Amino acid sequence: MKPKITIISTGHIDHGKSTLVGRIIYELKQQLTNWGAVDISNGNFANFLDQLEEERVGQMTIDVVHSQVEGKKYQLEFIDAPGHKEFIQNMMTGASDAEGAQLVVSVAENEGIEEQTVRHLFLLKLFGINQIIVAVNKMDRVNYSESRYNILCAEIQKIMGEMGIDYSNIYFVPISARQGENVTVKSEKMAWWQGKSYIDTLEDYFTPKEDLSEKPFLMPVQDIYEISGEKIIIGKVESGTLNKGDEIFFPLSGFKACVSAILEFGNEKELATVGDSIGLKIECGDAKEVSRGDVCSKDFLLIPKSKIKVKSYVIGEEIGLNQEVSVRIGTRSSLGKVVSIKEIYDPAKKKETFTSNAEKIVKDNSGELEIELSEPIVGEPFSAYPPLGRVIISSGAIPQAAGVVL
Ligand code: GDP
Repeated sequence: MKPKITIISTGHIDHGKSTLVGRIIYELKQQLTNWGAVDISNGNFANFLDQLEEERVGQMTIDVVHSQVEGKKYQLEFIDAPGHKEFIQNMMTGASDAEGAQLVVSVAENEGIEEQTVRHLFLLKLFGINQIIVAVNKMDRVNYSESRYNILCAEIQKIMGEMGIDYSNIYFVPISARQGENVTVKSEKMAWWQGKSYIDTLEDYFTPKEDLSEKPFLMPVQDIYEISGEKIIIGKVESGTLNKGDEIFFPLSGFKACVSAILEFGNEKELATVGDSIGLKIECGDAKEVSRGDVCSKDFLLIPKSKIKVKSYVIGEEIGLNQEVSVRIGTRSSLGKVVSIKEIYDPAKKKETFTSNAEKIVKDNSGELEIELSEPIVGEPFSAYPPLGRVIISSGAIPQAAGVVL
């Protein structure tokens, strides 16, 4: 089986995200399996797949869509998140595992760089997605002009530079998703283009993620089941490996134990690794003190925190100083209060940064929050350990901001 890479689709609405994914899937399936008795004569690839069609009910993209296709080197999975709220939800869940992103920017007159283009770039940087392929789309609308392509690329690079995005893993490719130019096959209409087709660029330059099985073992606790009087600790392995007999530690309860059995789908196994959803039976300890929200760890001393610093992006109305919030990291939610706000930034307007104390952060702005927690939480800097570094901040049950632990 080819290794899988996941790509999150980003870009301003109507710049061609759905059309591009539809086009890629159509052309790759046709090339690999001669599959293609589908009427695409109107060129509307956005409506090509049933699932994409559903997504476009009423001409509005409404939900997150996962589409998979086999490429030459990889099994490619595209995650399409229509707005930045969905995009953030994705970053916190499925897409947090994405290897990279595609950013679709239309070169057509009156399109180009728009608000969501810039916000998405900012969020990719915030959540550490640094392999990005930029599809300069709708080249047919500018007669496949090399100079129009170069002008737009320079503008995008300027914004990336201002955001501190490192270009070394960023690739630009001119395409027409609708006309199928330079998507999976090099275009004759752009003879000036020295690079590869879009999909060859993506497959040749994107690399699968770092193997987390070499890192220390960590598994956020999802639940504790009791089966025939015996407690079983349930979770999904985020990093490292665990063997039967290993000594484990739960930082929130301060409880140590030995693994007496690893269960998966009701069967016992000797070794658990990244991505496995498992149940643990333990001995020489008492599991009743462990609860959802704790983290099962091995060879890694995690210290629960009662105050955390978060670089956040506000998706609700606002986050204010002294506001009571609920902070979620991994499977744990803790109550807390915002005690300082600084470094406010509006990615789209590039409004100046306030380094001193501020009163609030409004929707679609970013800022650094300090939160004092009434119940400790296990959180680690995102840059060092992503699975314990992503945060959702809610007020009541409503998510107000997302971000990363600093
Ligand atoms: P999304 O909102 O980013 O998913 O954008 P869609 O894929 O729905 O495309 C928006 C509109 O742009 C649709 O009418 C598409 O047919 C059109 N479109 C997409 N790609 C191209 C292209 O390469 N050239 C032209 N001329 N139109 C395109």
